Amino acid sequence: MSDPQEGGRTRFLYPLIPSEPYLRLVNDTDLPVPNMLESMSPKIADFFATTDLDGPCLAMDLDLVEAAYLDLHDAFDGARVHFAVKANPTDAVIARLVALGSAFDCASIPEIQLCLDHGVTPNAISYGNTIKKERDIAVAHALGISLFAFDSEAELHKIARSAPGASVFCRVLSDGEGAEWPLSRKFGCSFAMAEELMLQARDQGLDAAGISFHVGSQQTDLSQWRPVLDAIAGLFERLEARGLSLRLLNLGGGMPAHYDKPVVAVSGYGAAIMAAVHSAFGDRSLQLIVEPGRGLVGNAGVIQAEVVLISVKEIGDATRWVYLDIGKFSGLAETMGESIRYRLLSLNDGQDSGPVILAGPTCDSADVLYETSGYYLPLGLKEGDKVWIMSTGAYTTTYSSVGFNGFVPLESVCL
Ligand SMILES: *Cc1c(COP(=O)(O)O)cnc(C)c1O
Repeated sequence: MSDPQEGGRTRFLYPLIPSEPYLRLVNDTDLPVPNMLESMSPKIADFFATTDLDGPCLAMDLDLVEAAYLDLHDAFDGARVHFAVKANPTDAVIARLVALGSAFDCASIPEIQLCLDHGVTPNAISYGNTIKKERDIAVAHALGISLFAFDSEAELHKIARSAPGASVFCRVLSDGEGAEWPLSRKFGCSFAMAEELMLQARDQGLDAAGISFHVGSQQTDLSQWRPVLDAIAGLFERLEARGLSLRLLNLGGGMPAHYDKPVVAVSGYGAAIMAAVHSAFGDRSLQLIVEPGRGLVGNAGVIQAEVVLISVKEIGDATRWVYLDIGKFSGLAETMGESIRYRLLSLNDGQDSGPVILAGPTCDSADVLYETSGYYLPLGLKEGDKVWIMSTGAYTTTYSSVGFNGFVPLESVCL
């Protein structure tokens, strides 16, 4: 339910933690109410309600990871799901996904080793980083990894030398438009170059398997996949005419977590993307891979943080500075440029809310989380109060520094 307009803004009240009557969505927006009625998972709520924590902590509900995996698996019917390990390489997360039959996309030897240690077979692991040391390619090859990404001639030659006979796919450029965390031009090459490199791959004794792309992380524009897929289908045709038949199509990641705006369910992504695949490739039989990171683990985690200080810069300022015990250097790096705008919850003290600038606890002036995004918190908020940062299961623990200013890396538990 939402209560009446308050100061021109609608605020939403809903029960979340059983032991506390209400929490309030503090990042007020004009969104339709039903999207905002999502509650914190009871497991996570119970954990925070019954555990005395001295610092910020990410709690992951593994059942939500499982539900997201099953949704993705259904939505991308027939595609193999390779979890992008970097999004959350926690043992319990990997173990749960292994139990579900997931495959994995790794960016380094330690990530590959982590998966192997969990009993993943080498042929269910892709080495998807296009920037690898040649000796790491050799190590991966020795470990039995047989699927490698590249996006340049030099990388292709490294793979041909150090992983002879391996299967390879070439990553093509995609501009990342529409993504809240775009990937820029760092990865991928032009379609014309991909065409020549795939022929070279074959000539160098590699299995020239196919093409990959990534439309940008937290991609909320579902129309972004279709033009890339149409272009890739054209590339497949041109290579076919030159005697090389590709079979692998790696659809990348980009599926969203629920941040400040509501997002289309993963079933909607699957339907739109699979329809685009069928329209581009017709009945051609393809080996499909999807590589979700954020979309698999993002919504499964909540960080509990604590208010360290509330202050203003001038007598009578309406905007308060709220300093939390977590910041850009302890897990919230994706607030860079205010790109990823997490939903925040705080206990509803029954008072009105007011504008805040949110910042982290370190002595670096860059450690400001949100200054221009329009965050609101209750006027009665006080030091020592808890704040819950929602949908923080992806790209948080791994982005936490080893100890800037002496703050320990973000703690995490799996429930
Ligand atoms: C990071 C990454 C992904 C996952 O991206 P999300 O947007 O988190 O789904 C997939 N593939 C590759 C190659 C990546 O580097």
